Amino acid sequence: MPRKPVILWVHKEFLYFLGVVLLVLVGVAAAFLRHAAIQTTAPLSEIVSGKTVVIDPGHGGDDPGCSGNGLVEKEVNLDISLRVRRLLNRLAVYGILTRDRDMDPLDYAILRGEGGVGGKSVKELKGKAWEREALLKRVEFVNKHKADLFISIHANTFPSSIWSGAQTFYTVKRPENMALAVAIQTRLVERLGPNYREAKDAQFFVLNHTEIPAALVEIGFLSNPEEAGRLKDAAYREKAAGAIVEGIVDYLVQAERGIKPPAPLSLQTGARTGQKGGRTPGAGQIGLGSGGSTPQVEPGPAGVVVYFGGGTDANNWLVPEIRRPGGLNAGVPVEKRARAAMEELIRGPHVGSGLQPTVPAHARLRSLTVKNGLATVDFDQEVSKDYWGGSWNEEMTVYSIVNTLTSIRGIDKVQILIEGEPGTIGGHILLDQPLVRYQELINR
Ligand SMILES: [Zn+2]
Repeated sequence: MPRKPVILWVHKEFLYFLGVVLLVLVGVAAAFLRHAAIQTTAPLSEIVSGKTVVIDPGHGGDDPGCSGNGLVEKEVNLDISLRVRRLLNRLAVYGILTRDRDMDPLDYAILRGEGGVGGKSVKELKGKAWEREALLKRVEFVNKHKADLFISIHANTFPSSIWSGAQTFYTVKRPENMALAVAIQTRLVERLGPNYREAKDAQFFVLNHTEIPAALVEIGFLSNPEEAGRLKDAAYREKAAGAIVEGIVDYLVQAERGIKPPAPLSLQTGARTGQKGGRTPGAGQIGLGSGGSTPQVEPGPAGVVVYFGGGTDANNWLVPEIRRPGGLNAGVPVEKRARAAMEELIRGPHVGSGLQPTVPAHARLRSLTVKNGLATVDFDQEVSKDYWGGSWNEEMTVYSIVNTLTSIRGIDKVQILIEGEPGTIGGHILLDQPLVRYQELINR
């Protein structure tokens, strides 16, 4: 007997309703499965996704940064930064660039229709000390975006071509900074090594003045022919960008899980002779007898101590030389002694010493005054024109001046000026306030 067909009468609206219910069910099931998959296989992506990283390609536009072996720093920085952003985006991490083209931060601000700094228009800021304003603009950009991390990307040069290797810098301003820098440096060494360089504490403006965990990466030395050759290769740049991203992810995961990465080796063991690590401003004044365990370099009444750059790839530090320029004795005023010391510093290291100059030999001293322990030293613009170095070099230059002057009894702070203004020598350190001695930078 044939089955009697069942005829079911339904309203058209009911079919629509059924469709909607089915869609919701499928959606919920998919979301549940996805959630379950993340929980079991990729807790990492839960930690990093949705985070925001400000990536800062150093220099740009009118400020090319350093250059060597056919490479210009601003171009290398931008290319690697764009790669970092793309790789971060793949992990659902937002990458915001302080510039995405060959422009300095002031021109880039004009492009975005932004105002200037401190009531001045951006165009007005492009005056004499515009690099200073460009640094301030960079920091303003970073602090405005409520990001989780800040990474500034640079490339290095050094007068001697033997220096090589990527290096990451941080400031001691907040403990997370060292953790971030160590995480990135570990990956850079792992992926691009061999490289003995460690994450290091430095005074770079963008690190000192940003309000989120921050690190500055020097991706390699343009002045080293082999490293520059590698940096010309797109695959190597991609690998470098990948290492930075891996370091960022490592840091975020460690921070989430409360894991503290080990401090750089030199801070753990005092591996560098006499190196205790960390910054103890004003400690160990040479000739003032306040140095504790610091060995004293005593130049005598006729001499001054000047500091130059270590001459080998393994020596990143300032090295003292004693000079007796003539005309100095126990009775000469502090200003005369300070001036003599600066002239010796500009003259450069002894030929054959193997040490590196820190101040360009064509720079001139415009004035030098000492008042209440503060030395104000004013250089002409030659000190910063075509500056040869990357960020670490600039640290050496600035602190060779500061440490040389604070070696003199009666000077404990140094204000460096360029053409009478608080500018910047190489675009990484803003000389906007007096600096104190940085004893740990000296190799003893
Ligand atoms: Zn740079």
